[in-house]
Parts: sequence; structure tokens; C-alpha cells
Amino acid sequence: MILIVDDAPENIISLKKVLEKNDFEVDTASSGEEALRKILKKSYVLIILDVQMPGMDGFEVAEAISGYSRAKETAIIFLSAASANVHLITKGYSSGGLDYISKPVDMNILLLKVKTFYRIYEQSRALNEMQTALREEIEFRKEAERKKDEFISIASHELKTPLTTINGYIQLLERSLDKNDLSTAKIRLQKVQNQVEKLSLLVADLLDISKIESGKLKFNMKYFSVDPLLDQLLEEMQQANPQVKIIRKGNVGTEIYGDEMRIEQVLINFITNAIKYSPDSEELHVTSTKCGNDVYFSVRDFGIGMAEEHQKSIFDKFYRIEETSERFQGLGIGLYICKEIIERHHGKIGVKSTFGEGSEFYFYIPTSSPEKDQN
Ligand code: ADP
Repeated sequence: MILIVDDAPENIISLKKVLEKNDFEVDTASSGEEALRKILKKSYVLIILDVQMPGMDGFEVAEAISGYSRAKETAIIFLSAASANVHLITKGYSSGGLDYISKPVDMNILLLKVKTFYRIYEQSRALNEMQTALREEIEFRKEAERKKDEFISIASHELKTPLTTINGYIQLLERSLDKNDLSTAKIRLQKVQNQVEKLSLLVADLLDISKIESGKLKFNMKYFSVDPLLDQLLEEMQQANPQVKIIRKGNVGTEIYGDEMRIEQVLINFITNAIKYSPDSEELHVTSTKCGNDVYFSVRDFGIGMAEEHQKSIFDKFYRIEETSERFQGLGIGLYICKEIIERHHGKIGVKSTFGEGSEFYFYIPTSSPEKDQN
């Protein structure tokens, strides 16, 4: 917006008319004092300032606003009888730019100058925006780099723990075999197998992450029955975790379109987390049901839960809740992979949780293939 400051109403009217005809927004002030009041409240791209005014003259206005932060980018065109004085105040005024036009005003020259100042203003605004965006990008990358470093150190630790345990059990296994104690050897072999299983899940997650990054996470989409999958999965998970009671609720009753192994991976992740983050609770609920054209799955636990502020970030890569990250081991990538899998199924993933009371992780996916719907 342009502010015209002149004590002669006829000058204001004619300038305003020309500028508005050229699509500029115009505000007016009939004295230096009124101009100052307006500049305090509003930001102007340009001020067209009559030098000779009773009371505060144009130069005094310019000097006064040189300290206003609102007027930092504002340019001034003086309307003056002589050019010489303009240079006197340029030293003090380090803002958007200064120029002058001798009176009587040649409207064509004034318009040219106004347009030039506007162009400069637009360019500097674009530059500022670019600078802000670049700064944000740098900060974002720095943070991503920091998270990656942290991730590498946690990942190495997570990989090393089962390896060390495997090493220990192999030595014990050797001793049992030396003593021909086959029953103890079997128990130790089972422990090794459990750790190998843990290790391969970790490596699979790491591989998934790199596949997601490079856009190479492949899906084998087909129709499959989800109820038997859930029966089998819950039976296995119940056997492996006898300390919790896994309660199954609902049934889907139809086939669904998706990658069976990937959907199973999401359910395993939800259930494993539900058990991990509920060290003192005795049961968890797994619900599956058909909901219109979608199927809905949820895993409800009665564990530590989480505060609302974490709930929107929980599916971000490497995100772990800081307060509990020491108590529970993890990499903060499981839910990120789950989100990717569900979104690639055109579904929705989410969590409802109350700190100290437990969480319910859920997802919906369409039962049928998108192509089928289009036909
Ligand atoms: P990880 O468990 O390996 O850290 P995830 O991506 O599976 O990684 O989970 C990310 C974070 O979400 C966890 O670090 C934990 O803070 C939180 N979280 C996940 N599941 C639950 C749950 N059932 N209850 C409470 N917090 C959970």
C-alpha cells in the first residue's frame, strides 16, 4: 500500500486517482503528524511525501520514521521544489530507498518511480522468503542428520545386544554338548533361535527403511482371508507371550485386498509394542471388523499410554518418546514402516491413547482393490 502525505487536498486527490487507476492501493494523510500515526499502525511499501508542509515537514517525517521497525522496508519519494535537500537526510534513512520528484509533479515519471520501487519491494520480499525457507531447510537437514547419527548409534547397540547374547549361549551350548547334556543343550539352542529371530526382525526393519527411502518397498497385492491369518498369528503370539492374555474381538468375514505379509507385519508390530509398552498389564484386546467398504483392526493395551503431544509424531521416522526411551529399547522405525504400509494400501493409521492408561493403535484399509471399484 502507498501512503500519500500532502497538506494540499487537491494534490492528494489527483495523485490518488492516478495511482488507483494503475491498481495501487492508496492511503492518505494531510499532515506529517497524521502520517506518523498511520505509519505506526500500518506497513506501507512506499510513502509519497510532500516536503513543504506546515507543522512537521517531509524531512522531519522521514527522519522520525527511520527508527520505526514497521517502516524498515518502506521507500520514500519526496515531492520537493528542489533536489539538493534530499541528500541531507539520506544518511540517516537506511530503509527501503529514497527518491524525489520536483514539483509540479510529472505523473508519468512518478508512476515509473512507483513501479520501480514496487518491483524492488517484491523482489526483496521474494528474496527474504527464499532466505527464510533456506534457513528452515538447513535447520531441518541438521535435525535429520542429528537423528540419523543418533539412530546409527542406537541401531548398532540394538544389533550388538542379541549378538552378544547369541555368543554367550553358543559357548554354554558347547559346554552342554561336551557333557552330553542334550536337554540343556536344547533349551540353549532355543534361546539362540529366539535371539536370531530378534536379530532378523531388526535387520528386516532396517532393510524396509532403506527400501522406503529409495521407493523400492514392493507389495504383493491380492485377495486373501484375514480371519484365519489373525487366528494363526494370535495363537503364535499367545504362545510366545504367555504372561499376557490376548483377547480377540470381532471378525472380518470377507476377503480383503492387500499384501498379506505386510498386513501381518503391521499387526505383529502393534501387538509387540502393546506387550512391550505394558509391562505390568495382563491383557490386550485385538479387534477386527468390517466397517462399510473398509476393514478395521485395532490393538488396545492397558500400558503406559502417551500424552497427546506425542500422538501426532509417533508415526514419524526415528520418533521415540524421550521420557521412556531409556526404559524401553527400540529404534523408532516400526510405526513409521506400519504407516507406509497402510498408506500404500490407501488406508489410514492412527492411535488413541491416554497417558498412564494405555493405547489403542488402529488402521483401516479398503476391502477391495481400487481398480475393481473403478470398473
Ligand atoms: P520402537 O518401539 O522400536 O521405539 P516404534 O516405531 O514401534 O519404535 O514406536 C515408536 C515409539 O512410540 C516408541 O518408542 C514408544 O515411545 C511409542 N509407542 C509405540 N507403541 C506404544 C504403545 N503401545 N504404548 C505406548 N507407547 C508406544
